[in-house]
Amino acid sequence: MRSISILGATGSIGASTLDLIRRNRPEWRVVALTANCQAAELAKLAREFDAELAAVGDESCLSDLREALSGSGIEAVGGAAGLVEAATREADLTVAAIVGCAGLAPTMAAIERGGAVALANKEALVSAGDVMTAAVARSGAVLLPVDSEHNAIFQCLDGNDFADVRCITLTASGGPLRLWTAEQLRAATPAQAIAHPNWSMGAKISVDSATMMNKGLELIEAFHLFPVGLDRLRILVHPQSVIHSMVEYRDGSTLAQLGPSDMRVAIASCLAWPQRMDTPCAPLDLAAIGELSFFGPDEERFPATRLAREAAAAGGAAPAVLNAANEVAVAAFLRGQIAFTDISSLVAQTLDRELPPAPRCLDDVLAVDAEARARASQTLEPA
Ligand code: NAD
Ligand code: MG
Repeated sequence: MRSISILGATGSIGASTLDLIRRNRPEWRVVALTANCQAAELAKLAREFDAELAAVGDESCLSDLREALSGSGIEAVGGAAGLVEAATREADLTVAAIVGCAGLAPTMAAIERGGAVALANKEALVSAGDVMTAAVARSGAVLLPVDSEHNAIFQCLDGNDFADVRCITLTASGGPLRLWTAEQLRAATPAQAIAHPNWSMGAKISVDSATMMNKGLELIEAFHLFPVGLDRLRILVHPQSVIHSMVEYRDGSTLAQLGPSDMRVAIASCLAWPQRMDTPCAPLDLAAIGELSFFGPDEERFPATRLAREAAAAGGAAPAVLNAANEVAVAAFLRGQIAFTDISSLVAQTLDRELPPAPRCLDDVLAVDAEARARASQTLEPA
């Protein structure tokens, strides 16, 4: 029996993880589950999985959580400290599946503890970059990538030397607006941007997929996870999302990982690592799919990947600023406050201002994040 904590248990990745645990119930002991608020839903999951602890990030939801858990013997905690406490509890595996930089401090707490961390929360790695990879090296934590592209690359790299890698190609579906003209993109609504053709995901990452910022964030994520250098990381649009990413070696061999567009495949690979486990996902039927197609990214209509590559090249605080501005911009777009194409413009504008010094510890990263959010919000609504 192994123990597991899930940060962001009520989200899309959280639900997929719990679905796999539910199918293998005797193999797992659930330690901690967290959510932002959703007290009733979190309490229901904590009771079902007999968790030790449940945590809500939003402290104002703690009384509801306590009430929903009364008589269960499950501890309830709240606020930023509650999330960190959940991540600090001893567990063999922690699934980091909070969305946004809000997940950074708890993810770092899990890493500092030195266990295995299945990382879905890409914004945390993008923002913290070297600070997080240094913590991984220091604590001896094992970082298992949940993001399907990085999970694919992780599998394709198995047993190979980074020095033998000619290039790594991250595939991108291109999102629901892939074929839209620049003019159409300006008028895209939140509902249209969220309607992803292949994957069912939370709202924020769905918008990121439509702007291609998701691939930009993933480029920075890959830059930290697989140190082959930025010039050996490529992006390729592949609308069918069958090939999840590829690694080309210096002898001319390219290894790819293929699978259905179901995050349970990548999550299962982390849960069972270094072994394998069953999933309920339908096997890949290539004859039914028929053809796979590939295109270079169009950075005129979708400038986000260029912005991310530039931020990765600049290093220091730039990726954290890029991420923070994007989080503010996506939230404003979802509220109907700005146009779809304004998302990348706001990120570019925020990056164009003088950048703070390179963050050297978690508190520095959180300060850069807070300042960049304030700047981006100010650009949206000048005082
Ligand atoms: P989601 O919106 O469905 O769920 C997010 C979870 O985080 C929820 O449990 C929510 O309660 C919690 N949360 C949100 N804001 C919080 C806050 N301020 N404090 C504490 N908790 C908070 O998101 P998701 O689609 O499951 O994505 C989670 C992460 O995984 C993201 O970083 C995303 O980029 C990454 N990811 C998701 C997918 C996918 O298929 N959904 C694929 C690859 C990577
Ligand atoms: Mg991905």
